[in-house]
Amino acid sequence: MMNSKNVLDSVPEEIEMALGVSRQSYRYGAESIVFKARVEELSGQNINLCYQCGACSSGCPLSKEMDLLPSKVIRLVQLGREDPLYSRTIWICSTCFECEVRCPRGIDIASVMEALRQIMLRRKYSEVRLESIDPEKLRGLPQIALISNLRKLMA
Ligand code: SF4
Ligand code: SF4
Repeated sequence: MMNSKNVLDSVPEEIEMALGVSRQSYRYGAESIVFKARVEELSGQNINLCYQCGACSSGCPLSKEMDLLPSKVIRLVQLGREDPLYSRTIWICSTCFECEVRCPRGIDIASVMEALRQIMLRRKYSEVRLESIDPEKLRGLPQIALISNLRKLMA
């Protein structure tokens, strides 16, 4: 992978000034591209296909519990912004695939959510902690609930 820090540091200040773009924004741009590419690699999806019709958000059964709607998650990733990583949405998503069925561009949004969770899990952050669930309640949960949550517990 290209070392964006070294390349950016080699840009002469006169060029930076002539372009009217700060060194910091060059760096932010490079980091954004890397983040978006990482999400696309992990999810196998072409994020640019989204044209923000909102069908995924309107059909999501859990959107009321989310702090970012699925279409907004996709838009932010398009822009290379990491905000969705710190949202409740990626942990609330139940991977029901309703959004994928509705998406006119064929984007598997659940896989994008999964990719974002994977990035956080690899950073040693998880929103789902088995030890925080009452053991009585845990015993009463249907097995499918535990199995579907396994993917939120390990990278
Ligand atoms: S897969 Fe996730 S984002 Fe898509 S509709 Fe289901 S809960 Fe919502
Ligand atoms: S349904 Fe597909 S194209 Fe429409 S906003 Fe959602 S991801 Fe984008």
